[in-house]
Amino acid sequence: MRVSSTDLKRYLAHVNLKNIGVIGQKKIIDSKILIIGLGGIGSPVATYLAAAGVKNIGIVDFDKIEISNLHRQILFSEKDIGSLKTKITKKKILEINSKARILDFNLKINNNNIINIAKNFDYVIDGTDNFSTKITINDYCKKFKKKLITGAISKFTGHIFFFNFKKKKSSCLRCFMPEIPNLNGIDCQSEGILGTIGGIVGTIIANETLKDILNFKNSIIGKILIINSENLNFKFVKLNKNKLCKTNCIYQRSNV
Ligand SMILES: [Zn+2]
Repeated sequence: MRVSSTDLKRYLAHVNLKNIGVIGQKKIIDSKILIIGLGGIGSPVATYLAAAGVKNIGIVDFDKIEISNLHRQILFSEKDIGSLKTKITKKKILEINSKARILDFNLKINNNNIINIAKNFDYVIDGTDNFSTKITINDYCKKFKKKLITGAISKFTGHIFFFNFKKKKSSCLRCFMPEIPNLNGIDCQSEGILGTIGGIVGTIIANETLKDILNFKNSIIGKILIINSENLNFKFVKLNKNKLCKTNCIYQRSNV
């Protein structure tokens, strides 16, 4: 297994870790990761994964950058206001790592387009901010056996879920949330959010993704990590498979 001399220099601090080495760094470089949602969570995820050397990165968002995004979406600056999040994210990732191959999708993910968008990626990271999109991503990943890491942030709190759908008995997001809550237009912006919580959640998601690529045993798969940044409290809750879970119903109905 070969890593170029430039890469060896660049990732020396990774390579020097005995659990990573040259072989582990090559695994990181060759991994294929799709990030859906380029907000408070997607910004640090994209930054850290690109910096770690991940070459194949897909990015999905349909929004333009607004001034109210800047307190938590750290990839963006004042001069980016009004530009597409996908365009600026791609530019910033390539500034970090010019060898990255970025596929950018400026669209809202749905049950149909996700099939083609996500098919060539091994990991899907969900940093979106609404429940129905989260369920769409969950159902797709479960049906097509992708590894899914979902993050959610609100006020001072963050939730992280890691599902390995290659395992038959994996729980899923519907086990945690059987019905999609009707929030009547309430989003993280209107209910308030501490800027740093997206950074904490996004960085832990990047951390857990790298650990999984490297086959580390100690991970949060099958558990929910709940972070309260107000009290700096980290809590793990086991998420069991719910026998009544309606997962994949959309794909079963449509016979995709
Ligand atoms: Zn489920």
